[in-house]
Amino acid sequence: MYKAKAYSVASATSPFASTTIARRDLTDDDVQIEILFCGICHSDLHTARNEWAAIMPTAYPCVPGHEIAGRVTSVGPGVKKFKAGDIVGVGCLVGADLTCPNCRDNYEQFCPNGVFTYNSPDSHLGGVTYGGYSDSIVVHQHFVLRIPTNLDLAGAAPLLCAGITTYSPMRHWGVGKGKKVGVVGLGGLGHMGVKFAHALGAHTVVFTTSASKKEDALRLGADEVVLSRNADEMAKHAGSFDFILDAVAAEHDINAFIHMLRRDGNITMVGAPDKPLAVNVFGLLFGRKSFSGSLIGGIAETQEMLDFCGKHNITSDVEVIPIQKLNEAYQRMLRSDVKYRFSIDMASLKAE
Ligand code: NAP
Ligand code: ZN
Repeated sequence: MYKAKAYSVASATSPFASTTIARRDLTDDDVQIEILFCGICHSDLHTARNEWAAIMPTAYPCVPGHEIAGRVTSVGPGVKKFKAGDIVGVGCLVGADLTCPNCRDNYEQFCPNGVFTYNSPDSHLGGVTYGGYSDSIVVHQHFVLRIPTNLDLAGAAPLLCAGITTYSPMRHWGVGKGKKVGVVGLGGLGHMGVKFAHALGAHTVVFTTSASKKEDALRLGADEVVLSRNADEMAKHAGSFDFILDAVAAEHDINAFIHMLRRDGNITMVGAPDKPLAVNVFGLLFGRKSFSGSLIGGIAETQEMLDFCGKHNITSDVEVIPIQKLNEAYQRMLRSDVKYRFSIDMASLKAE
């Protein structure tokens, strides 16, 4: 066991503060990583503030962070895939049984014994797992990803959650040339969704509540932008989408977007508002439409996504911040004032 520097919250209403946490010594299959950048996902905020108490209550102190990019510092004797110096990433998963039907099908994210990067029971040290708002982490090699070296590392970190969470459902639902695809909510996830839909060749439309993001949406690869609170703009697109990805973090009217789908169209939720959404079933019946969800992606698919990003030179648009600005960053995220992901430069933790 060794000590790592980190930022944690002590309760749902406490601000982040500097702390030290325990990390395990390397077992055979472990990779030790010096964390260089960590993205700030809205899930970090939901968890830090215990907004998902009904489903996944938060244990305190809580150290979030599951968009981890860094450099391997040391590996256990059983690790052949990685060596010291390699540039790697860790996403939302750090454990799974690797034997259940879901794991065998490369869907570790649905493993009943899955271990999330933070706020999951830690079988090594007791307590719960601590995430990437830290200078170091130890992770079983199966859950360590290779980041293409041509990618800017601060912008690559968010691929580990925002990237895979938007890439996976788009691949599953056949997003590509000839398809009209909508992305709802131009935040961290949404802006990655736009980049992927565009790179996959789909006609891409952004639905945003923020007029100030219109120009950006086009620059990010959208073909059209719709202000979702403008009824006239919305009406023009009714019944025309093959697929819509909804990445909104708060309560909103889902029926307005179901109405945008064509026959047999699908809308997938990746956003995880704490309150239930009211679905008007008739909107699904007429047109045999479907409403579904998606959770990050498996490890193999995460590597596929990273390689796709390497090939197409796709990273997240980030605002790099020192860790001392974490509390301010959370406030800004709540105001949808992020373009489009905060990435923490972990060098700033050295000052603590
Ligand atoms: P984010 O950066 O805060 O972006 C959310 C966006 O939603 C905002 O930028 C805003 O976009 C829109 N929005 C916010 N409040 C709204 C409201 N009241 N009505 C309509 N639109 C609103 O968050 P994120 O990190 O992308 O995460 C989005 C959600 O996905 C969170 O709930 C997060 O927990 C969840 N998530 C799920 C998975 C998964 O595996 N399923 C993985 C990661 C995150 P506009 O300004 O364009 O309107
Ligand atoms: Zn996330």
